[in-house]
Amino acid sequence: MRFYPMIINGQPVTADARFGVINPASGEVFAEVAQGSAAHVDQAVAAAQAAFPAWSAMPDGERQRLLHELGNALEAHMPELMELVTRESGKPLNGLNGVGAGMEVGGAIAWTHVTADLDLPVEVIQDNDEARVEVHRKPLGVVGSITPWNWPLLIAVWHVIPALRAGNTVLIKPSEYTPLATLRFVELANGLLPPGVLNVVTGGAEVGAAMATHPGIAKIVFTGSTETGRRIMQSAAGNLKRLTLELGGNDAGIVLPDVDVKAVAPQLLAATLHNNGQTCACLKRLYVHDSIYEPLCAELARLAEAAVVGDGLQPETQLGPLQNREQLAVVEALADDARNRGARVLCGGRRLPGGGYFYAPTVIADAEDGMRVVDEEQFGPLVPVIRYGDVDDAIARANASDNGLGGSLWSADPVRAGELARRLECGTVWVNEHGAVQPDAPFGGVKQSGIGVEFGRHGLAEYTSLQTVKVMKRR
Ligand code: NAD
Repeated sequence: MRFYPMIINGQPVTADARFGVINPASGEVFAEVAQGSAAHVDQAVAAAQAAFPAWSAMPDGERQRLLHELGNALEAHMPELMELVTRESGKPLNGLNGVGAGMEVGGAIAWTHVTADLDLPVEVIQDNDEARVEVHRKPLGVVGSITPWNWPLLIAVWHVIPALRAGNTVLIKPSEYTPLATLRFVELANGLLPPGVLNVVTGGAEVGAAMATHPGIAKIVFTGSTETGRRIMQSAAGNLKRLTLELGGNDAGIVLPDVDVKAVAPQLLAATLHNNGQTCACLKRLYVHDSIYEPLCAELARLAEAAVVGDGLQPETQLGPLQNREQLAVVEALADDARNRGARVLCGGRRLPGGGYFYAPTVIADAEDGMRVVDEEQFGPLVPVIRYGDVDDAIARANASDNGLGGSLWSADPVRAGELARRLECGTVWVNEHGAVQPDAPFGGVKQSGIGVEFGRHGLAEYTSLQTVKVMKRR
């Protein structure tokens, strides 16, 4: 079985203990990685601190050139990275509506190049006879990145590339469920970057906790559950770490009565079953107007039943398994709870046979606020459809959530829908679309969905501190 070492200071590093990585399509271990420890975190932080002076002093253009080279290296290894992503995460190579490992690796390449080209120019606040006042952006030092299992490579790139672009050095800890594509990404990066600039330690919560408390780490960028985000915030207080927290979501979509049911149904289904429902900002609660409720539910169920579920390595597969056994149990419990409380399961509602963590895509009609499948972040192939009569009421119900990541309005009148969408309490709103992100527009959550944003200039700025420079002209 192949073993993937950690990389610290440009060198492969093993550990006394190892753990297995499971292919969720089979439930079987197919690779092993090192069980890192707090001592490895110390070692990696020391390496990143040692690399920081030269890396941060490197001219911008040179850092940009190296990051573009890294983007090219990812592209040159695209098939290999896609296979690793599929085998460890379960997502299909292609996937429903093109959401699969190809999108993940393609996105990682695109984000690398676009982020490499971003700039945070010096701002001149005052320039007169008296003084010149400039505002500069300076890197923070060592950034610690902690990632989840749903989009392992893409989220690693979202964290690492802006941190490096801004002149920081990095220690990344991937999810213990999906460490492999990240290890390969760091290995490719270390073929180009000076030693110590990008390090990786593998392990679970204990490694993440050691990073969150570490006095040598200046900032943590974390993507994962709200509960873990809270813990990290507490642990980070010791040295006032800067934080970007991208946390859970329970995004609502509101479908107005003027839509064309047949045309909108495939788009709604693709947005709810994005990565088998395991995307932070996918559609998780669907509020549908009473006048189109039954035909839209029927069309969603027809399409969901037709989706091809299977091993992601098979090219025809549209939806893969859930990523892990625990997540499968959560999804099953939420669907069972809805059924027991009177909701109508129009299709699916059951595990699929075999050793993998498969659950059939499930459309749940007569779902209601107060049911677990509506109130909790479900993270699975469940499509709860809730009936509404009055759009103001639907907006109020969509906002009656602690989460605030994304939300959407669906209508034949995009101007009116845009106005309504702005009343949703969330970091991003979409009209006739849900969940699409892009490397030049900020993305982040409000309320319990997070702190700070990623992407574009706004995201890059979060890897810097401001320094105001005032030079007096009169003596
Ligand atoms: P998780 O919180 O269980 O784990 C995420 C990472 O945190 C893992 O690497 C884990 O090892 C580490 N970790 C666990 N306990 C820790 C601790 N005490 N200290 C430090 N690190 C610790 O999340 P998950 O189950 O891997 O991912 C799913 C969650 O991620 C969902 O809630 C989803 O909405 C969220 N998510 C959010 C975004 C976003 O951009 N807002 C994107 C993707 C996923």
